[in-house]
Amino acid sequence: MIIATIGSHSALQILHGAKKEGFQTMIIADNKREGFYKNFSFINSVSAYTSLDEAVSMINEIKDNGILIPHGSLVEYLGKERVDRIETKIFGNRKIFEWEANQKKKMELLKKSNIKIPEIFERPEDVDRLVIVKLNGAKGGKGYFLAKNKSEVKEGIQKLIESKMIRDEAEVIIQEYVIGVPMYFQFFYSNIINRTEIFGIDIRYETNIDGLRRLTYEYMKELEIDPTFVVVGNIPAVARESLLPVALEYANNFVRTTKELVSPGMIGPFCLESIVTDNSDIVVFEFSGRIVAGTNLYINGSPYSWLYWDEPMSMGRRIAREIRVANEKDKLSLVVS
Ligand code: AMP
Repeated sequence: MIIATIGSHSALQILHGAKKEGFQTMIIADNKREGFYKNFSFINSVSAYTSLDEAVSMINEIKDNGILIPHGSLVEYLGKERVDRIETKIFGNRKIFEWEANQKKKMELLKKSNIKIPEIFERPEDVDRLVIVKLNGAKGGKGYFLAKNKSEVKEGIQKLIESKMIRDEAEVIIQEYVIGVPMYFQFFYSNIINRTEIFGIDIRYETNIDGLRRLTYEYMKELEIDPTFVVVGNIPAVARESLLPVALEYANNFVRTTKELVSPGMIGPFCLESIVTDNSDIVVFEFSGRIVAGTNLYINGSPYSWLYWDEPMSMGRRIAREIRVANEKDKLSLVVS
């Protein structure tokens, strides 16, 4: 069986893990990256595409003997329409993609899971505090902005429309900006052993909200530098142990809700992106229904994955392990869609 993925995001980790679990591995990458991916001996074949339609054909070539592992760049690169044309089995539940791409549906899923979320403002006129305005889809924070009041929200939205990043107001979500520290809790849900594992924690390294700490307040004011949220890397974290039971409870609630609303529910990796406040509340402002790039930190296992596995277990390897075990138990259909 071949494990394949698109050449970006967490592809190296995914295929490294797949090789460790005994699979053949394949990467489907933009031809400009072909040389890069050829550096790695755990990748058995590199299929270089020159167009996104060609990428879809390459994925479909392994429909009888392969599984595609989705990651954050899959829908972003190929677009929804092309992803719908993928005939090869995809690890996890494809229906989650649609919920993930829509900020409003996304927050609804969290709310229904009894997870604390930031206040959401339906219209710019309702804004009464510091907010963050976000765009649909996993655009790595591009285009997001902070606004202190309704007129700043309106101005910012207008700029996004003028720069053609959005067509209208309906494409943004306006959220209370929660003060605290970010912690992105990574999980793996196995429907084969019916267990949610806490797999790691990371913090996204974002320009230039993180860079601004290096400037004095006077400079920032003088240069009129606005904070932006473009993800360029990840930093590892561990949480106070007393936060973990709440994080895991949230994760289990989330799995339960997805079973009800997006049957057959969450399968495999997911992430609850949170802000931890100074009274130790975990406020979840977003989820990712697939592997997040922050797991790349833990290619040799994380401080949490060791607690379950006692062996180096990356998220990529955990996915491959699930596929292997499901296959051995004749339950492969439970982990792919
Ligand atoms: P997202 O694309 O939703 O993950 O957001 C990108 C970045 O914006 C996050 O990594 C945080 O730094 C920040 N952020 C998003 N939503 C909030 C929020 N409600 N409160 C505080 N910070 C946020």
